[in-house]
Amino acid sequence: TISLVWFRDDLRVADNPALLAAVADGGAVALYVLDEESAGIRPLGGAAKWWLHHALADLSSELAELGVPLMLRRGPGAQVIQTVASELGAGALYWNRRYGGPERAVDTAVKEWAAGRGLHTESFQASLLHEPWTVRTGAGNPYQVFTPFWRALSERDFRAPLGRPDAGHGFGGDLPVSDRLAQWALVPTAPDWSGGLAATWQPSAAAGQEALADFLASRVRDYSDARDRPDQPGTSRLSPYLRWGQLSPFQVWAALADLRSEGTSGPAVFASELGWREFCWHQLFHHPDLATTNLRRHFDAFPWQLPDATDAAYSGSAVEHLRAWQQGATGIPLVDAGQRELWRTGFMHNRVRMVAASFLVKNLGIHWCVGEAWFWDTLVDADAASNPANWQWVAGSGADAAPFFRIFNPLTQAKKFDPEGKYVNRWVPELLTSDYPQPVVDLADSRRAALDALAATKSSL
Ligand code: FAD
Repeated sequence: TISLVWFRDDLRVADNPALLAAVADGGAVALYVLDEESAGIRPLGGAAKWWLHHALADLSSELAELGVPLMLRRGPGAQVIQTVASELGAGALYWNRRYGGPERAVDTAVKEWAAGRGLHTESFQASLLHEPWTVRTGAGNPYQVFTPFWRALSERDFRAPLGRPDAGHGFGGDLPVSDRLAQWALVPTAPDWSGGLAATWQPSAAAGQEALADFLASRVRDYSDARDRPDQPGTSRLSPYLRWGQLSPFQVWAALADLRSEGTSGPAVFASELGWREFCWHQLFHHPDLATTNLRRHFDAFPWQLPDATDAAYSGSAVEHLRAWQQGATGIPLVDAGQRELWRTGFMHNRVRMVAASFLVKNLGIHWCVGEAWFWDTLVDADAASNPANWQWVAGSGADAAPFFRIFNPLTQAKKFDPEGKYVNRWVPELLTSDYPQPVVDLADSRRAALDALAATKSSL
């Protein structure tokens, strides 16, 4: 038989149960579908496309070493799979499961089509330590609060990571036509803004493994304190590798196991950050509209502004504020440093993400969806669950949210977490010159306005 393995957010050859199953059948062919057309599928942002391009090139050469060819096709997922499976005369189809609403609808459609044709299909758990329908509160509901969610989950035994398949079980015959990666134009050319990304990241699965080994060997023990310091290399920077599945959570969990029994707090706190990733996916599974709808519906009445920065004709203060935020020109140093780091490298430190997001949503009064969309376009780790869940958390409208009235002061945050100003000076070198702008809003006034708006929203309920 020819067996087709459909790669999605799992761009690795190790710890990949769908690939192992296909190879066990013999005659394995791999396929990646660039799907921007199925109903509800969110088109990738610019930085994500850049990462995907390199991850696919890397996957293709890793698969070639195993003798498995990688085909590329573009179009609505379900139709493309049907076409390719038919063209190949495939007898079996394997994939690792996805958890977003539109993606699950596509997968269900494929399963139904395959069942009608007698084509064997099988799907596997590979991208999350838990599957969202398997963890429930005592009352049988999805979790809304992180701590009990993680307590319930981390008591489980997670499976050990699986190995790489043996070489020599790929399909050696003639393949139907495949797109060329360059044809997809995932990397920017005119202008090519990706220099900062290329200087910062090695988007290969091997680099993800190296980053993990390096972090566990040297930095994880200090993680509890160092993780909040954007001026120090305190965090793992594994998020894009986890996002694209170049690294699996099972691999990270297993590598962490020995260290967790050591008794220092760093490994346990780091493990719980993996738990936040799980929690975000738990939320997206139970609320497929997480990126567009407040989880706490009373925030629907909050008077957030919804400026459209792409509308050049519009020049209200909200759109000017949004542009200043996007460009790192708000006059608030920590916010500007973060936004510039993001634009240049496709990444922003978590502490700074929280501060920059809070400033947009609370001091500038702009809807969290607008900031979420900007991050979606600019982050290399832009994740369909973690991005909206964290934006809603910061805005106060989400699960286990920070209460809205707790408003970060970005100056105090900078003093505490970047005490010598190293991070800010790196990204905002003109800080002490007259070129640096005045703050676009007064922090105290805008804070008061946000609290007044919250009070008015509550009294209108
Ligand atoms: P580490 O501190 O080393 O953590 C290890 C891993 O745990 C991360 O790689 C990530 O997979 C996971 N993790 C850590 N913190 C969180 C968290 N709060 N929520 C979910 N998972 C977490 N993370 C994304 O992966 N994609 C996003 O699109 C994303 N958008 C965010 C938007 C906002 C407004 C905020 C406040 C946070 C967002 N995060 C997102 C979470 C977090 O900022 C990043 O995961 C983290 O900064 C990645 O750096 P790291 O790998 O060095 O993290």
